[in-house]
Amino acid sequence: MDDDTEICTVLNTTLTLDGESDSDIGVSTSFAISPIITILVGRKKCKYTAHKILLQLRSPFFARCLAVGMKEALTSMVELPEDHVQAFDLFITWIYHGKVRSIEKEKDDDTKHGSKQLLPLVQAWVLADKFDMEVWQNKVIDALAKWWNEVPVYPATINWVVSNVDEASMLFKMVMDQFAWDLSDARYRVLVGGTRAAEGMKELLATGRFPEQVLWYAIETDQDEVDRPVKFPCKYHLHHRSVKCQPPQKK
Ligand SMILES: [Zn+2]
Repeated sequence: MDDDTEICTVLNTTLTLDGESDSDIGVSTSFAISPIITILVGRKKCKYTAHKILLQLRSPFFARCLAVGMKEALTSMVELPEDHVQAFDLFITWIYHGKVRSIEKEKDDDTKHGSKQLLPLVQAWVLADKFDMEVWQNKVIDALAKWWNEVPVYPATINWVVSNVDEASMLFKMVMDQFAWDLSDARYRVLVGGTRAAEGMKELLATGRFPEQVLWYAIETDQDEVDRPVKFPCKYHLHHRSVKCQPPQKK
């Protein structure tokens, strides 16, 4: 289920472009003369404003939405009631700065996903999918892979993913692959924190959607033989329009 707290922590979107990201994402600083679009996000309609040209250049979804003759173009307003505010914050950071921040454990971070920063990033992948933004999606995969290379996938995260993410998607595949690998570690319950692991697993099993193949993979995996799935995140990238990553060099 959705545990987005829907707090409107709207970023200041009247930012200047960061010089480093400018060339990466190919936008002229003349975007500043572009009209401003209002975007209302989530059930509480958190209000964002952003430059129209930037939205159109970064996202084919917004390019379609704001095309000549569309209602959104006439009103200069886009409503996204089903999307998550914290994920939209990350979208704004990406389109203005071209950056995805790594997940870090915060002080007193006692969340059921392992870090407060994890679920917004998972939701950002879903948003990037909706907005048709392959490069951003791949950068989000890299940040998630970096985290799950160190920390196990918690049952609560799997619970969110089985309820909200398309089973055929690369995110779904990555999370399931890594979860199965993590489960094959006898220390899993301890690593996730005994009670939290037990409660999360109970909730997950109650959904009736725990994929059976995950269980068999976990039982049959020998961690000495098989690398962590997230070690090579390109397996979970999309490269329909972007340049394919170079395979890791063999040592
Ligand atoms: Zn790749």
